[in-house]
Amino acid sequence: MSVRFLDLAGQYLSIQKEIDAAISSVITASAFIGGRYVAAFEEEFAAYQRAAHCVGVGNGTDALEIFLEALDLPSGSEVLVPANTFIATSEAVTRSGHRVVFCDCDPQSYTIDPADAARRITSRTRAIIAVHLYGQPCAMDELMALAREHGLKVVEDCAQAHGAEYKGRRVGTFGEAGTFSFYPGKNLGAYGDGGAIVTNNDDLAHRCRMIANHGRIGKYDHEFEGRNSRLDGLQAAILSVKLRHLEGWLERRIAVAGLYRELLSGLADIVVPDSPGEGMRHVYHLFVIRCRERDRLQAFLKTRGIETGVHYPQALPKLAAYAYLGQAGEGMFANRADGELLSLPMGEHLSDADVRRVAEAVREFHAESTPTP
Ligand SMILES: *Cc1c(COP(=O)(O)O)cnc(C)c1O
Repeated sequence: MSVRFLDLAGQYLSIQKEIDAAISSVITASAFIGGRYVAAFEEEFAAYQRAAHCVGVGNGTDALEIFLEALDLPSGSEVLVPANTFIATSEAVTRSGHRVVFCDCDPQSYTIDPADAARRITSRTRAIIAVHLYGQPCAMDELMALAREHGLKVVEDCAQAHGAEYKGRRVGTFGEAGTFSFYPGKNLGAYGDGGAIVTNNDDLAHRCRMIANHGRIGKYDHEFEGRNSRLDGLQAAILSVKLRHLEGWLERRIAVAGLYRELLSGLADIVVPDSPGEGMRHVYHLFVIRCRERDRLQAFLKTRGIETGVHYPQALPKLAAYAYLGQAGEGMFANRADGELLSLPMGEHLSDADVRRVAEAVREFHAESTPTP
């Protein structure tokens, strides 16, 4: 008996009839690109995120890139990005002609540290990307205050945070826009690539829609050169089905996190995520613990048939891709913590018994590796 990190096949089997019917209706209608399935999902997802607009695009990386292009910042602007995120976040900044400035993350939430971000603001800084990492909302009050003070745009990378809330309000609606990924393993995942931009700004939504579709709205009325990055009909129809189940799945993730927290408390060398405060909704795309003996713990869990992950093995400043920035040697928490983070199995596929097995194995490792005082 193993404990899977993720179980996409199991999830499909639980909703197979609905998914198969949706796929078949898209094909029967030949609504492959654009069309009513895309329009319907965009409307449903905007309503779900409690925002005015949703623009479907090809993937979550494009969502960031397209939105940064729509913002039309002066080229070469400095954009603040957390050091602990997936490379897509910083890649989008560079690809849209701007300069990445990595900021440290908070040692408890792992999201961007507003105080460190403040220290890195210069006369060229124009934007902050708030990544709601692991499904946990960033410190939005602090970030928005900082942005107001310095005239910065805030873009929220919500690729891991569908349905997450900060003080009762959905993420993605604090800054100029929230960008989403529907990569299969995300909390709301397609059966291929997909992404979206969610915003309350009518003009930016319109501009994103044009950029993503060759600079046009109608068939051949190209107002400028855009690109081709569209959410397709099959993925949209699949996402509409899955969106109906999302709240139930998220609630199960939250319950699993609560059980992990209860069962893993009081271990000296294991740091477990805090329970979110009042009004905060962490949707646990990942349940990440910190342990100095991370590699040994991961290997031990593997011998017990427990799958784990590492997000991410190297803080971004340490990657070869960012050697040119010279931030690898900075004594940031993010640059030190990357060797200690471990993602435990997480998802609606886990039973309470699975969670207990994982927690017992972690406790067993801890008992064996920690000398009793
Ligand atoms: C997955 C992810 C992305 C990129 O999404 P894709 O759909 O894979 O392009 C961007 N940012 C973060 C934080 C992610 O986790």
